Order: sequence, then C-alpha cells, then structure tokens
Amino acid sequence: MKSADKIQDLQFFGEFGGVNPSISDSATFTFMAAKTMADTFEGNTEGCYLYSRHTSPSTQHLSQALAAMEGSEAAHVTGSGMGAITSVIMHLCKAGSHIVSSRTIYGGTYAFLKNFMPRYEVNTDFVDITDLKQVEASINENTTMIYCEAVSNPLLEVADLKALAEIAKKHNLPLIVDNTFTPIIVNPLELGATVCIHSLTKFINGTNDAVGGVICASQEFINDIKSVNDGAAMLYGPVMDSLRASSILKNLRTLPIRIDKHSDNAMYLAQGFEKLGLSVAYPGLESHPGHTVMTDQKNDGLGYGGLITVDFGTLEMANKAMELMQERNLGYLAVSLGFYKTLFSASGSSTSSEIPMDEQTEMGLSDGLVRFSIGLDADIDRTFKAMKNCFEELGVLKSLVTLE
Ligand code: PLP
Repeated sequence: MKSADKIQDLQFFGEFGGVNPSISDSATFTFMAAKTMADTFEGNTEGCYLYSRHTSPSTQHLSQALAAMEGSEAAHVTGSGMGAITSVIMHLCKAGSHIVSSRTIYGGTYAFLKNFMPRYEVNTDFVDITDLKQVEASINENTTMIYCEAVSNPLLEVADLKALAEIAKKHNLPLIVDNTFTPIIVNPLELGATVCIHSLTKFINGTNDAVGGVICASQEFINDIKSVNDGAAMLYGPVMDSLRASSILKNLRTLPIRIDKHSDNAMYLAQGFEKLGLSVAYPGLESHPGHTVMTDQKNDGLGYGGLITVDFGTLEMANKAMELMQERNLGYLAVSLGFYKTLFSASGSSTSSEIPMDEQTEMGLSDGLVRFSIGLDADIDRTFKAMKNCFEELGVLKSLVTLE
C-alpha cells in the first residue's frame, strides 16, 4: 500500500464517536492501582499514559500516523524538526564519535554538527553526498553514522539512498535521513535507511501555524531514544504539545493532494523557467544531475516535490526579483516551505547563512540562488506569466529578450 493511502486509511475516533480523535488535555494521568503506575513508568503497559512529556494520546496518534506514512515500526513526535535531529544525533554519539554528513544540509543542522558538537568531542566530515567513493573513504573507526537529506536544502541534491544504505550496512553504521523536502514521495526506510526524520513544520503540516518534528525508526530505537533513564528525546525534553499534535494530524490527512499539486506546479514553473533560459534546478527536470536517481527511488505519482531553485547571478538581482514578485502577490519573501502560497528566500544569506562563504562557494551555493517553495496556485500558467513579466522588467531575461 502506498504511504499516501496509509495516512488516509488509518482511523482514530473521538470518545463520543467524533471523526477526529479527542484532544488530550492533561499533562499527567491517574491510575487505579499503584502497581500499574510503576509498570507504566517502566514501559511495560499498553494503552496507559503517565505524563505528556513522554507520550499523550494526541502525540501517540500523530506518531502512529507518521509511522504508517514512513512504513516504520514506530515513531516519536518532537517539538520541532531540530528537536528530532539533535535528539537522534546526541543519542547515537558519545565523546570521540565521528559523523559523515552531506555538506548540503539545512543550515541549522550544519551549525549543530559544525559548531556545537565539537564541544562534546564529536566531529563531522562534510562530504559531497553524491560522491559515494568520498562518503566511504571518510568513514573511520570512530564513525557512528552517515547523515544526509533525501533531497537537500537548498541545492536539491538527491542522495542515492539505496547505495548509501549499502555503504552504511557494510560498515555497520546507521543511515540517518532527513526527508523534510519529500514526504510520501520518498520512503527512506524502505530504501534501507535506519532512521527517518521530518520537520513537520513544512509540507506535513502545510499551514505554517505550527512547528514540529518526528523520528521514525524501529520500535527498539524509539524505545531507546524515549528511555526515561538515558534516552535523548526524553531527557532533553523536545516535547510536542497535544493541541498541536492534533492539529497536525488533521492536516496530515490532506498531504497527498497537496504534494500532488505542489509537484505539478513546481514542474510547470521549472520547465517554463528552463525554456526561458533561467538557471533553474529541479529534480523533475532531465537536466538535473539527480534526476535518474530520484526517478528510480521515488514512489509513483506525486511528482518530484515542491521545491525549485533559480540562480539570479547576484544577491542584488535575487533580492530585486523577490521584492517585485512579492509586490505582485506571487509569493512571500519568507523562509520555510510547504505553504499554500509560494515562499522564496536567498538561501546563502538566510537559511544557509550558518555555512561560511568559502564553503558555500565550494558546494555551488551562489549568493544569487533563490529557493522557491512553490505554492498551491490554482492557475499556475497565470503565475508563470506574471513571474516572467517580473524577470523581463528587471532585465533577468535580457539576453533572451534580445534573441526574440
Ligand atoms: N530539516 C530541514 C531540511 C529543514 O529545512 C528544516 C528547517 O528549515 C529543519 C530540518 C528544521 O526544522 P524545524 O524548523 O521544524 O526545527
């Protein structure tokens, strides 16, 4: 069964027969017998809740739905995507550990690995994740994980998850994959990853009113990371509130139709921009270096996702283009992604600004690069024409206009 079907088929009813489960409105839970409380604390009772930092009925429903979506035995929702990422990394590492990570990852994750973890003697080699030889050559006896994003932020590099999982398996390492850009399009665990993480803040919630994250993995891993004795997701306390969990669950039900539309619209604009001669990257375009890998590892239907990048050459031109598009109500100059409205930002000076300039240049992140999270526009041709007008007015298409 497809993950799109799984998140719509899963049923939870409210206590009065509501079509949505009731929201659990308690931080703590009472027990009829003292022994049941002790057993629950040790994780030995099914269906009993102790305290909402551990799990509440509402966070449990959302976790179960996300586990179904990713095809994992279990899942644990967190208060943010970073809460999920940092919990997994801290849980797997100890002083002296080494991480092999893709060099093109979300700026917050990069900053955590590069600037924060060395305080605990955990060091990271940042590699070109599409260069499998480089990935394998960077593994040493202290390596504790391979870390990447299925489709990377912001460069949209596609990680060959099957090949990376083989390398990880050969060296007995977990492969940790952040799948925030491609929910239900790619299922990392089915391709051999050990842990799959999402920022729920983006496509999964889709309404830009909540921050959240999830860790999807085996039951054993989730039990470990939630252990009251030494589990990072329990002891750091990056908890999701029940009210938020219930609202994200409702939004999750419509993810398949939203992803379908985001992908269709992104493909339309990417193809149109390419014809205009713009420097556009989108995994759905045959010109994209990761197109074949993406086609091979993605689920059928649902397209190639809602993100594209356009390189405007300079930050000045990128800023002018974004300001004009916002003025014409074609999108918002804002970070984040997965909203009904198109969002655009110059990644080098915003969500990837934690990455030093020389490293940005080395990885091919130019300061004129704009990341677009394409919205759910009902008439994408109208949007395309209006964006084309903006580019023409600013002289972005100058050479092309001369040709015409
Ligand atoms: N992973 C990716 C790929 C992201 O783009 C982001 C945020 O932009 C995060 C993780 C962090 O998620 P959150 O903001 O929910 O902590």
